[in-house]
Amino acid sequence: MTTFQLRRLRLRTGEQLREQVEVEIEPLVLGGQEYRSEPARVPAGLTVTKASSGTVFELSFGVRLEGPCFRCLAGAALELPIRAREYQATSPGDDPDLRSEYVRDDVLELSAWARDALVLALPDKILHDPDCAGLCPVCGKDLNVEPHAHEETRGDPRWSVLDELREKL
Ligand SMILES: [Zn+2]
Ligand SMILES: [Zn+2]
Repeated sequence: MTTFQLRRLRLRTGEQLREQVEVEIEPLVLGGQEYRSEPARVPAGLTVTKASSGTVFELSFGVRLEGPCFRCLAGAALELPIRAREYQATSPGDDPDLRSEYVRDDVLELSAWARDALVLALPDKILHDPDCAGLCPVCGKDLNVEPHAHEETRGDPRWSVLDELREKL
C-alpha cells in the first residue's frame, strides 16, 4: 500500500508541490472476478496546493487493467487515464464535505485513493472486444469461436394445453 507523508510538507498559502510518485494499485474484485493493474506499481503525478482554507490534492496516472471478459471470460485488457481531486479543509470540523477520506493523521492514502478513482472510471462491462458475442446460454460454448444457434426446443408449453384438449375430444 502506498502512502504519502504530509507532515514534512510545510506549504504556505498559494504554494504548490508537484511530485512524481509510484503508486501500488491493488487488485480489484468485480462480479467475483479479479482484475489487476499491469504493472502493479504505476508512476503518478501528485500535486498538493495549499489554499487559505485547506489543501487541494490532485493525482493523475495511467493504468492498464487485466482480467477476464465479462461475457466470455477470455483475457481482457483496458487502458485508462485517471485524474482525481480531493480537498481537505484545515479545520474540517464534522463536515464530511470538507474532509478527504484519504487523509488520515497527516498521511495521504494514495493506494486507496487511486483504487477508488480507478473503480469510478471503469466502463459498465469489461469486454475483451466491444463486439464480444459471449457464451451460448444453452450449451455454454464460446460464441466467438463457434458461432451457432440452437433450434427452438420442441414441446413448447403453449401448445401442450391444446394437445391435452385434442386428446380429450
Ligand atoms: Zn469476450
Ligand atoms: Zn450453444
